[in-house]
Amino acid sequence: MNSDFINKARQYIKCKNSAKKRIKQCFYPGCPNESINSHILQRQGILDQISINSHLWTFEKDVFEENEFAFKRTGLKKAFSFNGFCNTHDTELFKEIESGMIDFTSYRTNLLFTLRTVYDEIYKKMVYANTRDCLLKNDTTLFDKDKLQEESENAKLAIDDLNTLSGKILYDLDNNSQQFVFQNRTLPQIGICLSSFFTYDTSEEIEQIEKEKGSNLERYTELFMTIFPYKNNTKLIIAYEKIDEEKVKDYVDEFFLSNNPEICYKKITNLTIFNCQNKVFSEDFFNEKIRGIEYKYIEATQFMLNEENKIERTSYDINFYDNSFKDDFVGLNFQLT
Ligand SMILES: [Zn+2]
Repeated sequence: MNSDFINKARQYIKCKNSAKKRIKQCFYPGCPNESINSHILQRQGILDQISINSHLWTFEKDVFEENEFAFKRTGLKKAFSFNGFCNTHDTELFKEIESGMIDFTSYRTNLLFTLRTVYDEIYKKMVYANTRDCLLKNDTTLFDKDKLQEESENAKLAIDDLNTLSGKILYDLDNNSQQFVFQNRTLPQIGICLSSFFTYDTSEEIEQIEKEKGSNLERYTELFMTIFPYKNNTKLIIAYEKIDEEKVKDYVDEFFLSNNPEICYKKITNLTIFNCQNKVFSEDFFNEKIRGIEYKYIEATQFMLNEENKIERTSYDINFYDNSFKDDFVGLNFQLT
């Protein structure tokens, strides 16, 4: 490693740590209290179901690694957590989904799981923007400052959109206005926990609409996805805004075909690998589906992060539930050059 590389990585880590420290206030609108470290999915009954000796595997950006991403064995306390709420809001707001019996037919249950996903995403985007703002203040030529500026501005726009969305969810919780559509299903147990956003519109579609309109789209059509272990099975929840129902219904329904679960399995495999960075894995899952082919997961992530390569709603023929998954994935050629 040359000294520029090490210097750059050091500056990045320093700014990321200070970016995290700057996020102190509870996310609940108007609450002045200091936030505490809380889990995106509760430890008891969910995260502890897939952890061994209180450890899980995370997949993270690592600036000290040459290819920038790495799987890491992480303590349960650190994995899948963020500083979002004060003690009162963390306890009060999510009380209904923290108890032993969770009623998945309830609109509020689904809403609360989605709210946590939204706030976690806000937190991640804040860390991302603050890190870039900190690097921009540094007197250094190691970074492309125009790029940092653009990344910071884009993250702030995304935070505004997410705040609008969390506002709608909080309104729903108080008013029973039901502005969202939720679908959930039980899957055979698999050692994955993820919460994720997925923009339904493809880049090509967005470009086309914006060209016709002559201006930027005011909002994208987002799908919110949560997968987690629950009572010896795995739960999948997909949510979207009711105003998008006509557009996304057919696509989302494919996850819930009871006569052909294979379609669902393949879709969640693709989404986990290509579209979602907020995920943790159990030791068993890591050993069976990841160990030895880590490079392929990293390649897939880098492929997706490249603006030129968008597979978006495409789904490859890979399925975590197949015994041949590793071979199928290794043999997959997604290099669209
Ligand atoms: Zn609070």
